[in-house]
Amino acid sequence: MKSTRLLITLAIAFIMVGYFVWRSSVTPISPVKLVSFQEADVPPIIPESSEVDMRFHMLSAWQVNQIPKISQMDTPMGSENGALVYNAQSFWEMNDQRGGHHTGDDLNGIGGMNTDLGDPVYAAADGLVIYSGEPSPGWGKIIVLAHREHNDQPLQTMYAHLEQSKAPLGSLVARGEIIGTCGTANGNYPAHLHFEIRQSNGIEIGGGYLKRFLNHLDPQAVIASMHNPEAKGISPSLLKLANLSGPNPWTNPEIKGAEKFMELKNK
Ligand SMILES: [Zn+2]
Repeated sequence: MKSTRLLITLAIAFIMVGYFVWRSSVTPISPVKLVSFQEADVPPIIPESSEVDMRFHMLSAWQVNQIPKISQMDTPMGSENGALVYNAQSFWEMNDQRGGHHTGDDLNGIGGMNTDLGDPVYAAADGLVIYSGEPSPGWGKIIVLAHREHNDQPLQTMYAHLEQSKAPLGSLVARGEIIGTCGTANGNYPAHLHFEIRQSNGIEIGGGYLKRFLNHLDPQAVIASMHNPEAKGISPSLLKLANLSGPNPWTNPEIKGAEKFMELKNK
């Protein structure tokens, strides 16, 4: 009885070992691809044969290091103090049609409807362009700027439905600089600027309406807390003074990692 069981066990073991030997001879095991330190350092999402989707791009240490610290924030349309614009749909207003609360402010020129089409949209504060693209026809062109508060807290401003986008990805823009123009998101809405402020380290676009706050802040409250109406005269943006017309920092080969990033991006 005992020997029969042993024989069966041995037979099963023999069949299994034989099967694996046969399998490995039919389909050779592909060699393990070693990831070097340099390769491990590149952005994680590089599609095989298309553009890098910056929505999934995590900032590298050297990119984070470029994010300007801010002490002043202005209104992104109209005057820096908020004149000549009105807010058609305030932050966290409930929109039953869309099934959620509005995640930003809808800023319009005081003329209403499409009278503000093509009006300048300004960087609300010194920032690094961490997203510039069109995630969907309904969103239209979007720019996201990254900023840091005094306590190093990350802060982002998002400018959506743009007619024209003028700030290239990776560029540093100064407060008050024109980064785009007010648009209709491909004719989906009367022209307005959908403006959001978030606390975030990553790049996510979202849907414009939410049931919960998540990382969204009230743009008007943030601007009010960081806006000194006298600041323009007494402390112009240092970035503006530095004249930032130099090369795009993300494509500058002198910055470690930039060359590799662009090589992979253009693949
Ligand atoms: Zn909106």
